[in-house]
Amino acid sequence: MQFSFHCPTKIFAGSECVDRNSGQLAALGNKALIVTGGSSSKKNGSLADVITALKKEGIQYEIFDEVEENPGLATVFRGGQRAKEMAADFIVGIGGGSPLDAAKAVAVLAVNEIRPEELLERNWSVKALPFVAIPTTAGTGSEVTPYAVLTVDTAETKISIAGEDLFAKLTFLDGRYMLKLNWQITANTAVDALSHSIEGYLNKRATVLSDMLALESIGMLGKLLQTMEPDHISLAQREELLYASMLAGIVIAQTGTNIVHAMGYPLTYYKNLPHGLANGMVLKAALDFIEQDCPERVGQVVKAMGCHNLSEVGELLTRVLPNVDLKLTRAEQKNFVGKIMKTKNLVNSAKIPEEKDIDEIFKLSNLADG
Ligand code: NAP
Ligand code: FE
Repeated sequence: MQFSFHCPTKIFAGSECVDRNSGQLAALGNKALIVTGGSSSKKNGSLADVITALKKEGIQYEIFDEVEENPGLATVFRGGQRAKEMAADFIVGIGGGSPLDAAKAVAVLAVNEIRPEELLERNWSVKALPFVAIPTTAGTGSEVTPYAVLTVDTAETKISIAGEDLFAKLTFLDGRYMLKLNWQITANTAVDALSHSIEGYLNKRATVLSDMLALESIGMLGKLLQTMEPDHISLAQREELLYASMLAGIVIAQTGTNIVHAMGYPLTYYKNLPHGLANGMVLKAALDFIEQDCPERVGQVVKAMGCHNLSEVGELLTRVLPNVDLKLTRAEQKNFVGKIMKTKNLVNSAKIPEEKDIDEIFKLSNLADG
C-alpha cells in the first residue's frame, strides 16, 4: 500500500473554540491583521470573538475588511500593503472562502515584494506569514487546503495558487457563526464541499485515506442535503456541515479538484454564478461522463449519498440549488472550453475529458445553446 498524506493545520472545533483556545494565537506573535469581508463577520459574532481573544492575549490588531466575493488581485495587494505597514506577525482570515483565500495571499504579500504574475506563478522566496482560518461558510475547505483561488482579469478566469505555506497554522470551526446563513448560500457551499469530495474520490491521486474521508463527507453531505429544512437548520447540523466540508478540504489538499471545478471557474467569472452553484450545475453530467469508465467508483458515490442512481443525485441537486436560466452562446462555450482544457488538474480526473466531452457535459447540464 503506497500513499502520502499531509494536513499540517491544527484544528479546533465546537462552540466558543476561539475563546477556549486563544492561547494558540499568542504563539504566533504580537500583531495580527484580520482579513475579512464587508459585513457578515460583523453580524455573525466571529469578528467580535476574534477581537476578544486577541485582546485577552495582548495581541495588537488591525482590520482589513475589503474582501469581495471571488477576490481579485487588487484587493490582496492592498491587504498585503496593510500587513506590511503594520508589520503584522500573522494574519487571521474570517469568512467564507473568499476572505480565507484572500488572507492567504495577503500572508504571502506581507513579506514578499513581488508582482502579480509572480504571485500567480507561486514565485515567492520568503515564506508567508502564519495564517489562522475561521470559516463562516461550510464549503470551500480553504481552512485545511494549501490553495488560494483568485480572480485574474488579465486571464479572464479564476486561478488557484498552491503552496505549503498557504496551509493555515490553526483553524477554528464554530457552527454558531453560520446560524443565520441563508439557505441559498448554505446549499451552494454544501454542494461545493460535496464536489470537492466527489472530485477527490474520482481522482487519479486518490488514496485509501483520502477515500475514507471523501466517502464519510459525501455520506454526511448527502444526508444533510436531503434532510435539512431551509428555515430550521440546527446548530448540530451546522456543525456537521462544517465538519464534512473540512473533511472534503483535507481530501482535495491531497488530490486537487478536476473537471467540475475547472468548468465552474468560467461560469463564475463570466456569468457571476456563486462558486458552489456553478459546480453544482455541471456535477451530475460530469458524473455521467466519468461513470462510462468507472462505474464502480461512481456507484460508491451514489450509494454514499443515499441515492439509488445518478438520476436521483441529479434530482437532489436540482431540488436544493436555485434554478438558473442560462444558455451559453456557441462562441461563449468555445471560449470556456478552451480555458477549461488548460486547467492543470484535469489530468487527475479518473476519466480525462477531451474538448468534445466538456461540450457534452455542458449540453447534458442544459447549458448549451442548441
Ligand atoms: P464567499 O464568497 O466567501 O461568501 C459568499 C457570501 O456569503 C458573502 O456575501 C459573505 O458576506 C456571506 N457570508 C459568509 N459567511 C456568512 C455567514 N456566516 N452568515 C451570513 N453571510 C455569510 O463564499 P464561499 O462559497 O465560502 O467562497 C467562495 C470562494 O472560495 C471562491 O472564490 C472559490 O473559488 C473559493 N474556493 C477556495 C477553495 C480553496 O481550497 N482555497 C476551494 C473551493 C473554493 P461578506 O462578504 O460580508 O463576508
Ligand atoms: Fe470549491
